[in-house]
Amino acid sequence: MALFSLRLLERVRDPLFRHCLAVRPALRPRSAAASQAGRVVPVIWQRRPEVAIVGAGLFGLVVAEHLTRLTPGLRVQITEASSRIGGLCVSDIDPRTGVSFHPHGTNVLATSDRQVWAYVRSRTTAVELRPRAYTSYNGALLPMPLGLEAIEACFGAPLTPEQARRLVKADAAEHQCQPPATAEQAALAALGPRLYEAFVRGLLAKQWGDPTTVTADVFTDHFTLRYAPTAEDTGARWQGLPGGGWGPMLDRLTEHRGISVVLNHRASAADPPPFSRACVVTSPIDHWFGQDLGALERRRTTIDWRLVPAAQAPARGTVTYPDPDLPYYRTHTPALLGAAGAGPQLPGRRRALLVGFERADCAPVGRCGVHQADVTLRTPRNRALADTYLSRAAAQRQLTASGDPRVWFAGRGTGSHDDMGTTIAAALRLAETLARELAARTPPPGSRASWV
Ligand SMILES: Cc1cc2nc3c(=O)[nH]c(=O)nc-3n(C[C@H](O)[C@H](O)[C@H](O)COP(=O)(O)OP(=O)(O)OC[C@H]3O[C@@H](n4cnc5c(N)ncnc54)[C@H](O)[C@@H]3O)c2cc1C
Repeated sequence: MALFSLRLLERVRDPLFRHCLAVRPALRPRSAAASQAGRVVPVIWQRRPEVAIVGAGLFGLVVAEHLTRLTPGLRVQITEASSRIGGLCVSDIDPRTGVSFHPHGTNVLATSDRQVWAYVRSRTTAVELRPRAYTSYNGALLPMPLGLEAIEACFGAPLTPEQARRLVKADAAEHQCQPPATAEQAALAALGPRLYEAFVRGLLAKQWGDPTTVTADVFTDHFTLRYAPTAEDTGARWQGLPGGGWGPMLDRLTEHRGISVVLNHRASAADPPPFSRACVVTSPIDHWFGQDLGALERRRTTIDWRLVPAAQAPARGTVTYPDPDLPYYRTHTPALLGAAGAGPQLPGRRRALLVGFERADCAPVGRCGVHQADVTLRTPRNRALADTYLSRAAAQRQLTASGDPRVWFAGRGTGSHDDMGTTIAAALRLAETLARELAARTPPPGSRASWV
């Protein structure tokens, strides 16, 4: 009985639900161990919530929290496949150094969206930081995004912005093609071959795959070129990281009494969570539909976290490495991001820093390890397949209008490549749309969930 209660408390943190369970003893929890072993054990659901959310990543958590605040009395249940909430934004404390770090990356929020920054600031002690990313070039570290410093290093001379512009334009002249189809074509047209070879080709190849096959927006989404010194660029209007990492804030997002969380359950269209009015699916869209139209191709990133003597550690918090001979393409050194973001260093351990070495992993894509993430490949085939799944979802959602339950697809699972700022912005917008819809629609008596 004690074990039963413990597992239950691990899985569901909702006082309302615990009360329900007491009067519904026939329900049994699905334990993490059973789930991992692949055995089918019944899941305990909250008495049917109005809203179900699939995936307790940043998107799902922000939607749940904002929606329950906007709609008093609403019950929202989040179903999460893994054993913890947070998705790619989880944070941990490294026991050897006491430093807080994000197993999946640096996770600095950079946004110029006032609502996003206000939302984060009202829910955590986000500290404003201005950490700059750097790129390694011939043993030197140059500030990113690419700017006058990189052009001068590449062309080997001090330049005025106008001279730099003329040089790059001349270098790129013979590579103009309209419109560029691949990342390589886009990069050559924008930068010319010299900057491309020095700073871009290796990164594209190591992080996203063959630049001659991935789509042009892989380049345009991740690289810009300035003719002014990058060191003077302040970037997004607000940048920050909560002291202690994002984990505590994400935990707080589930504290509203209308929200419950079910862990260790992988939902799908064939095995959906219960709901009466709306469902938000943030899990991979092809998996949701059982990959019946085909599987989206994915690439895995892995970060190996190691203790490195301070003298040999990267000199900056985030550094990228275009050099094709290095197996990793980025390092993350949380202690160098700023004291507030990094957390304390344990006394006597200052001479070793925690460094994450990020690389693409050729391991077969399946369930990710704790420091791994799968990223949807940005190829024309994948784009077309994702669009087909999305059109199907949208068309079927329209058919279930006027009072029937609806399913929304959102977040990283739809194949979008957002950052944390755009993820929070989209989640806030969706919560506001749902709140309006729920207020406007009165559910017909005895309405039942239907599924796309
Ligand atoms: C490697 C990497 C590093 C990044 N670093 C940064 C950064 O430094 N700064 C920044 O601003 N942005 C960064 N981003 C982007 C940012 O992390 C994402 O935009 C954001 O976290 C997406 O949140 P999400 O909830 O949509 O997805 P996720 O975080 O992927 O959450 C989805 C959740 O759904 C769960 N799930 C999956 N399938 C199921 C299922 N069938 N049933 C139930 N649950 C399921 C998953 O376990 C997960 O918890 C990074 C992205 C990647 C891929």
